[in-house]
Amino acid sequence: MNSPAVLLIALPVPLYKRFEYLPARNLDSKSYKIGTRVRVIFGNRKLIGLIVDKAAKSSLPVNKLKHITEVLDDQPVFDSALLKLLFWAADYYQQPIGEVLFTALPSVLRKGKFITPTTNTLYQLATGNNLDTELGRAPKQRLIVELLSANPRGLSADEITKYIPGWRSAMNALLNKIFVKKIYQESVAEPVLVESNFKNLKLNSEQQQAYDKLSTKLNDYNCYLLDGVTGSGKTEVYLSLAKDTLAKNKQVLIMVPEIGLTPQLLQRIETRLGEKVHLMHSGLSDSQRAQTWLITKTNKANIVVGTRSAVFLPFTKLGLIIIDEEHDLSFKQHEGFLYNARDIAVYRAKQLKIPIILGTATPSFETQHNVNKKRYQKLILSKRAKDSSIPDVKLVDMRSKSSSDGLSNELIQAMQTELDNNNQILLFLNRRGYAPTILCQECAWIAECSRCDARMTFYKKRNILKCHHCLKEEKVPERCPACKSESLLWLGEGTQRIENKLKEIFPNTSITRIDRDSTRKKDALEEKLNEIHDGKYQIIIGTQMLSKGHDFPNVTLVGILNVDHGLFSTDFRATERLAQLLVQVSGRAGRSAKKGKVLLQTFLPEHPLLNCLLSQGYAAFSNEALKIRKECALPPYTFMLMVRARANNITLTQNFLQDVKSIMQKDNIQDLTIYGPIPAMMERKAGMYQSQLIIFTQRRKSIQQNLGNWTQAITERPLARRVRWDIEVDPLEIN
Ligand code: ADP
Ligand code: ZN
Ligand code: ZN
Repeated sequence: MNSPAVLLIALPVPLYKRFEYLPARNLDSKSYKIGTRVRVIFGNRKLIGLIVDKAAKSSLPVNKLKHITEVLDDQPVFDSALLKLLFWAADYYQQPIGEVLFTALPSVLRKGKFITPTTNTLYQLATGNNLDTELGRAPKQRLIVELLSANPRGLSADEITKYIPGWRSAMNALLNKIFVKKIYQESVAEPVLVESNFKNLKLNSEQQQAYDKLSTKLNDYNCYLLDGVTGSGKTEVYLSLAKDTLAKNKQVLIMVPEIGLTPQLLQRIETRLGEKVHLMHSGLSDSQRAQTWLITKTNKANIVVGTRSAVFLPFTKLGLIIIDEEHDLSFKQHEGFLYNARDIAVYRAKQLKIPIILGTATPSFETQHNVNKKRYQKLILSKRAKDSSIPDVKLVDMRSKSSSDGLSNELIQAMQTELDNNNQILLFLNRRGYAPTILCQECAWIAECSRCDARMTFYKKRNILKCHHCLKEEKVPERCPACKSESLLWLGEGTQRIENKLKEIFPNTSITRIDRDSTRKKDALEEKLNEIHDGKYQIIIGTQMLSKGHDFPNVTLVGILNVDHGLFSTDFRATERLAQLLVQVSGRAGRSAKKGKVLLQTFLPEHPLLNCLLSQGYAAFSNEALKIRKECALPPYTFMLMVRARANNITLTQNFLQDVKSIMQKDNIQDLTIYGPIPAMMERKAGMYQSQLIIFTQRRKSIQQNLGNWTQAITERPLARRVRWDIEVDPLEIN
């Protein structure tokens, strides 16, 4: 058998395999570089692939091999360090190599196209008009003129969008009046200048201590936890260190949760550091993301702020990584390549011998554990930076108090007081829609989704029921489908119902709602946040979206309407999440000189977790909760792995997982505990049934050393082709 030299290629397919190809007919394998893209025929499709290795001998007979059709790149798209990181990630998370590599590439490159630097259309102020009088009552036009006059070189559409969402029609008016003109030039990397109050601040003593400790160690790997209460000035510490890093001609990566990336934050960073901030997040277009990728690789981006995918950017001289709100779940990818960007960032920092800072007011238990094990170093900011203190949290016992539509009288009175003083109020309720479901008063029928094990949410305006899991919608029945009774009742409260109720109670007050329903349109969230900052609304009602990093200086009262369900969940992490949520939401109050207050409505005022958290704080709570994790041998004291299977038939998933279980048990590994197959918490979702195996081990090695073989064996089982399955290492949610 003739076995020629071949190239090993990763393809964007969910297969645990590298594919062998022959060099193109006129080339030999030496002329190919690892990390470059090629075009190949795969089955009857043309695919883009990445060369990941070379082999002197093929494992297949030559007549089974195809030639590479085309080489796309002269230079590798990943340098060797990044490629090594991605190989490590594929192995650690046990994900198909092709999926991992292609997740890390911008989609323009995935499609086989190329990225070239763009020429920008810039908007520039046309001089010679007395704008002030002419603009009259056109606030958005006025904002644009102010921004452009601070930036005489002109600004691109993207840059303007960052500061003035929804600016286009106002700009058209200005262009028509020839107050503004368009010019065309190659894009420049200069910061946008804004009139702002982000002056240089003198660090306070705690900030200075943290800064001093870090600034002498910028040349080596170290992972720091910056554990600072909300508003303690963590961002100031990041910025000071970023400045030092830039001064050494190194790049800085700042990672933030998905919706923590606000115009205020960008403005603050650009103004303070005098550097252009480049962005990487899912709200950008493919070509915008490609541009950020390119300028990072060509060394023109000094600061990148991004969400989880930014961890894969091709930095050439990265000097510092900062992860703000490190506890946030959005650093975990939930589809396709299941990775944790925070943990990959720590690996990358170690690999590049640079520092990484994890900042939060509510450290994840994993990070807390790493501090306890002395793997990470903790720095503390215990006080708020401005002249304000952490608000008091008061429990409102909902069992005894009279209330209407989920709002206690105590809360309504407290709101009245704040409204009288012209303050802002934030109400938190993690349930969108009008009511969580409807109920028949005669026979207790409840509106459930026919495709999921879930209730359907009631939307009053459109008079529909909607499933938040599969997005199915249907009209609200006029009579109970079970007993034909007409007495159907809206059960419980969603944000829309609270909003309506508040409009009745406080008819002359401006109220806004922030949830996924009200911010669906592009820029809607930013626009609302800006309006809140400008004081347009006195009452803000919202979901989880409000708990992240936003700074609302005039909010003096936070009302938390109902979080009790977090105390009943079967996920062992539910209490950790609830505590983080309560602290983060409470942290929105009293961020300025005005003292803030938090009212927490609950039917469980004696719950030990709530009481420990409220009387002793998050650190004490997490110590207590960690003890329980240890006793129960749960993460972070053990390592966890999940294998999930989905199919339209429950027996299939159960049988498949039984197979998987026997594969894992065959090696008789001592410290492996396998639970399942068990049905998922929501067993049926969009018509598919889901079951899972949950595996714990004391030693990570027990899983890591065997996972590759297990995966191989699993892919060879006949049932593996009949169910959809995946493996998740270090899962953060059991659902
Ligand atoms: P965190 O990131 O911890 O939530 P920030 O860095 O956003 O906190 O700071 C909270 C507020 O305190 C901001 O308005 C910031 O301008 C202000 N601040 C931070 N550090 C100082 C300081 N050293 N002196 C005065 N004000 C400060
Ligand atoms: Zn009924
Ligand atoms: Zn559904």
